[in-house]
Order: sequence, then C-alpha cells, then structure tokens
Amino acid sequence: MTDPRPLPLPDSEELDALGVTGDHRTIYNFLYERRELPPTMKEIRKHVRERKASLGDSIDPEGDGEAAQLDRRKRDLHKKFDIRVVKLGDGQSRHKLFGWADRTNPNAHVINRRVRFEVLQSGRCNKCGRTAEHDGVKLVVDHVIPQAWNGSNDISNLQPLCEDCNSGKKDYYGQFDRFAEEIRDAINYDEPHRRIAMLLLAFQGEWVPSELLAAVASAKQYQEDWQKRMRELRYFGWDIKSKREGTRGERVRVFYRAASTTSLPSTSLAEITRRIEGERASAKKASRTS
Ligand SMILES: [Zn+2]
Repeated sequence: MTDPRPLPLPDSEELDALGVTGDHRTIYNFLYERRELPPTMKEIRKHVRERKASLGDSIDPEGDGEAAQLDRRKRDLHKKFDIRVVKLGDGQSRHKLFGWADRTNPNAHVINRRVRFEVLQSGRCNKCGRTAEHDGVKLVVDHVIPQAWNGSNDISNLQPLCEDCNSGKKDYYGQFDRFAEEIRDAINYDEPHRRIAMLLLAFQGEWVPSELLAAVASAKQYQEDWQKRMRELRYFGWDIKSKREGTRGERVRVFYRAASTTSLPSTSLAEITRRIEGERASAKKASRTS
C-alpha cells in the first residue's frame, strides 16, 4: 500500500507544487534531513523558532499559541506524508518521515470490487444486524479504523454497515477528530498492549467502542484475545471500566474507558505480563501444596 515514489528534496519545486511553504516547509525540510535521527516535537519547535529568527520574523518563543499552531502545521503534513512516532533508546517520542501518505496516491481510496463484494456478502449490518433483504437497508463498506486515523483498505479493516449506523458512527467518531494525531500515533506502536493503552489515553477518559479497540489492537498483528491484552494493563496500575449499551432486539455494544492510568515502562509489556503471571501461578501452586 505504500507509495514508492521518492520523497521531494528540501526546498524543491516539487514542494512548491504541493503547496508546502512557510512553516510547513521548514518542518518538512527538518524532518527530511533528520530521517536517520528523527527529532522530538520540542526539537521541531526549537528549529522553527531559530529559522524564523534567522529570517528576522517576529517570534514569541514561549508562547503557547505558537506551540499549538506548530503542532497543527505538523499535523497538516500528515495529509501528504507518512510521519510516524518512533522511540529510540531514550524512550522519547520522535517524529520520523517515512514516505508519502497513502492518501496522496490517487488510487489509495479505491476499494476494489472483489473486496467490496466480500465485505458486503453477509448482507447484514455489523452494528444493528439489519439486513438488505428483510429490512431494506442499504449497506455500505465502512472502515473500522477510519481512514482519517490511518485505517487501511485491507479487508481486515472493512465491515458492512447500514447507512444509519454508518452516519451514526461518523457523528460519534467526529467528536474525537481533535485527538486524531494521538489516535494515529497509538496505532503505530509495535506492542498490542501499548496500542490499546495509547488509544484509551487518546480518548482522554471518554468511552471507546469495543470494535475500535479490537481493530487497533490487531492493527499490526491479529490478536486472538485483545480483551485479555487490555485486562493485563491492570498489572501496570490501569483501571479500565466497561459499559454495555443496546435495547432488546438490537446488538449489545460494549464500550471501555480508562478510569485511571499510569505511565507505562518502555520495555516489553508482554514480557512483564508473562513474568507477573508466572509469579502468580507459582505462588498459587505453593499455597496449594503447603
Ligand atoms: Zn445498522
């Protein structure tokens, strides 16, 4: 799915043609030059400030407004380029320019007919369970992880929804578009525990639909039991609440939210989980045999 074209060079005409100018240009150039050692957000801000100062532009070095504006500028670049959060040895979040965003590929949004057919084959809405045949609903192909949050066109990320459920979902998720960058970042973590945790964090204590959690948990490798991965976060001091919604005859929907969180260690969460569970199992065994 990745667009194989080489990236535009800093200050190239290609960037002009893409409309990457001003602060956007400064940030792009910096990310391009620092592909091997991607910068932190703090370094990006510092670089832009210095660049502006060298051009004699007025700057407000400590201004919160300016920081927020720069974050937005960087987010704008996500529309054209694939910029991911990576962590090096020091555990800091760094922003790495990987390539073109799939969305700049004009064919990226097209779901081919075979896939569409396969997704819609059940003839039933995945949310309310109504069918085209008996209820006369029109089914559409929905992205479980929305495309705006870097959800892919892979069949594992597609589901049939009726038009009502699809527009209801758009309204619900629309509220969280302000966390879009955090959600995109959550999806990029290598460990399923961390993807789940970061998604819950991105929603800032609001209810997250279980199907979104399931999709994000499986975003890099299929998770047979993502609920267990989520429950295991309690070993790290997390408290996750759930609620069920749905009237009789409708499908019950489950939501989760993080009631309290801790900062997670940067080492393998799966390994720590295995160790804790191993210790508990042997403690249990010891108490039985004594
Ligand atoms: Zn429906």
